[in-house]
Amino acid sequence: MRGSYVIGRIKGIDIEINVSWLLIFALMTVMLATGYFPQSYPDWGPALWWLLGALAALLLFGSVLLHELSHSLVSISLGLPVKRITLFIFGGVAQIEGEPDEPLKELKIALAGPAMSIVLGLVFLLLAGILAAAGTPEYVSVLLGYLGTINLMLAIFNLVPAFPLDGGRVLRSILWYFKGDMQGATRIAASAGAAFGYSLIFLGIFLLLGGNLVNGIWMAFIGWFIAQAAQSSYQQMMLTDIFTKIPVREFMTTQVVVVDYFISVQDLVDNYIYKHKYAFFPVRQQNEITGIVSLNNVRNVAQADWSQTTVGRIATPLQENLVVSADETVAAVMNQLFANGVGRVLVMQGPQLLGLVSRTDVLNYMRIHGQLNKAG
Ligand SMILES: [Zn+2]
Repeated sequence: MRGSYVIGRIKGIDIEINVSWLLIFALMTVMLATGYFPQSYPDWGPALWWLLGALAALLLFGSVLLHELSHSLVSISLGLPVKRITLFIFGGVAQIEGEPDEPLKELKIALAGPAMSIVLGLVFLLLAGILAAAGTPEYVSVLLGYLGTINLMLAIFNLVPAFPLDGGRVLRSILWYFKGDMQGATRIAASAGAAFGYSLIFLGIFLLLGGNLVNGIWMAFIGWFIAQAAQSSYQQMMLTDIFTKIPVREFMTTQVVVVDYFISVQDLVDNYIYKHKYAFFPVRQQNEITGIVSLNNVRNVAQADWSQTTVGRIATPLQENLVVSADETVAAVMNQLFANGVGRVLVMQGPQLLGLVSRTDVLNYMRIHGQLNKAG
């Protein structure tokens, strides 16, 4: 995340704070010190209101960190490394490398956070009760009681079955477990995430119109964040899926115009390039594909020589980097397209030409696939 600073390291995980977190820290302190505390405990006085406000915000930050740490440690124990935990305006996020490869792992990782928040909530409430009974000053038990309540609310909010909230991950893992289809499970959980996000936006606007400015804006903001995250995490998963699973034969162009090795360049320009409006043709010699010819090859020949030059003489011989097999994945093909700086490659099975794949084919496929499987 841009504008983040590492403040420490726990078990090899970088703990960083994003500048946006300062805003929520300040907002929470101000709201407690000028709203909740003065209204409920007027006799404490400003110094105590502000001190306790800042302390509550800081301890809440500690609680959120423990929540994320809990996700992270379970994740690491299941073999999924965690690079960093970032605290930002909407809470915390643990950056887990890769996705869990089985639903039960995801379920355990997802539940670890809220479980920690519930434990923290109960411990804070219990401490508040004990200390109040033992006769410690009121503000100690009030602070602890407040943190206990907030941690429990945090757990409840995170358990809403809206991806990418923890509850959404729980929902996904359960659907995934019973249906065996991770992509379908993600689609449903992400749709729930988008629906929940938009409901919060709607509710936020409702509050805003009712005069509840801060809460209204805040709720709409969180809703927007969740809806965005739901959609982008689904798209990201789909891309990974396309990239690593779908074979080339599914998105290659099969209508390929092949030109003969012995025709003239003039013939190529008049009867192939202008007619089909392609810039790229495989070249065939007898029954074998021996090369490719493109506009670039044609440009290297003076126009006066077009009719005396054969296509075979200007064609680029077939090299390994121009050919892929039909069972390669998109990831492999994209690699080849970009690494070699070529616009398209031939899909071949032995000597047989099956089709062509260009960068545009790959991008179009992803676009169409995205439109047909849109979340939310
Ligand atoms: Zn969580």
